[in-house]
Amino acid sequence: MRGVSIELKMIIGLIFFAVFLVGFERFQFSDNIVQQFIESKKSKNKLLIDTISPIIGLNISLGLNNANAEYLNQIMKQNNDLLNFDLIDSSGSRIFHYEKAPLIEIQKTVDGVRYASQSIKDPVTGENVGTVYLYFDDHEYQAMMEKNKEITIKIFGISFVVLMIFVLFIKREFKFLKRLSEEVLQYDPHINNFTLQKSDRTDEVGVIHNAIISMVTKINGYATLLDDLNHSLAVKVEERTQELQNANLQLQELSLTDSLTHLSNRRSLAIHLHDIWELAKRNHIVISIIMCDIDHFKQVNDKYGHIIGDFVLKDIANILKNSLKRKSDFIARYGGEEFMIVLYETEIHTAEEICGTIQNNLKDINKFEYKEVKLNSITMSFGISSITPNETSEYNDLIKLADMALYQAKKNGRNCFVSITE
Ligand code: GH3
Ligand code: MG
Ligand code: MG
Repeated sequence: MRGVSIELKMIIGLIFFAVFLVGFERFQFSDNIVQQFIESKKSKNKLLIDTISPIIGLNISLGLNNANAEYLNQIMKQNNDLLNFDLIDSSGSRIFHYEKAPLIEIQKTVDGVRYASQSIKDPVTGENVGTVYLYFDDHEYQAMMEKNKEITIKIFGISFVVLMIFVLFIKREFKFLKRLSEEVLQYDPHINNFTLQKSDRTDEVGVIHNAIISMVTKINGYATLLDDLNHSLAVKVEERTQELQNANLQLQELSLTDSLTHLSNRRSLAIHLHDIWELAKRNHIVISIIMCDIDHFKQVNDKYGHIIGDFVLKDIANILKNSLKRKSDFIARYGGEEFMIVLYETEIHTAEEICGTIQNNLKDINKFEYKEVKLNSITMSFGISSITPNETSEYNDLIKLADMALYQAKKNGRNCFVSITE
């Protein structure tokens, strides 16, 4: 029963109730009417018999058969419903007979309504002098039953119409509720697709309807607030991320170490060069630098991918570092696949020797295996420059020279070094 809708339950209940009520009322009412009719008919017939019996009895005992016939003819005429009359004396012979219609259809059962009989007594002696048999017309009874049937049909008809009006009313009410529940089910606060307006109904359905609408209005308000908060939160997160990225950049700039190779970075190189340049200037000490650049490194990336490229960069950084001997030797990642070696108090020929060592050590790279990738040989080109600082020179001159030398080395066919000195 839980799966059956309340609407259907109410309609079925209403139909049962109406049929039961009307049926019961009809049954009781028509039964009463019929009974009352029968009783009144019986009483009337009895009264007639009781009225005529003493007169008939007296006439029989006095032998006034003609007077009896005259009297009974009168009675027959006065009572329209009296169809047939028989008066039989005590010896069984018929004294009087009157017949308005043949009695073929009437069942001769004494019911007091259609057929009645009574013995006639001498009013003086009380002796039984005969019997009367009376047959009545049941036309009225039939008419009454017909009328009763007509009323029953009318009542059922009216009840059916009223019932249908009720059913339509219930359906209308439930249609209202159905529409409301459909709207609630489809309601999405983000797109605010609730289309129903407030109702001016004040009954329970109207109260529920309006309560849901005000709830939806509140939810809409909260949804908008939430959207606004989300938006401002997203803006704040965006701002914070930007600030963090800026701070990271600043930190990277402030940092002195290159994050990939863990060598000194370009900033650190600048600081170091600046420091030793001043020292060398004062003490007239020679400084040599080697600008190292991996040959055709782009091809390594293209062939094996950037991740392998990074591994190679790290390994080359280690090879470069391990190729230096003196404490004052300094190495930095200058950028991309370029490195810078700064050699304090070192003549150019020593720098060239170091380049030879690096070239030699680079052969080891072929032994490295990066995630099952075996590398072809990797070579480097070197640009060497050497200056003893004075009042007019600056360390950028040293870099410019090394850069020129490196350019020349590349031009010479790579995997070699070129030296320039002032
Ligand atoms: P050349 O012999 O003329 O120097 O050729 P090259 O390919 O080495 O030089 P180019 O300047 O054309 O390319 C340098 C390449 O180095 C391009 C770039 O992808 C790569 N590179 C620079 N920095 C990094 C890095 O941090 N990691 C990786 N994997 N590759 C880098
Ligand atoms: Mg380069
Ligand atoms: Mg290169």
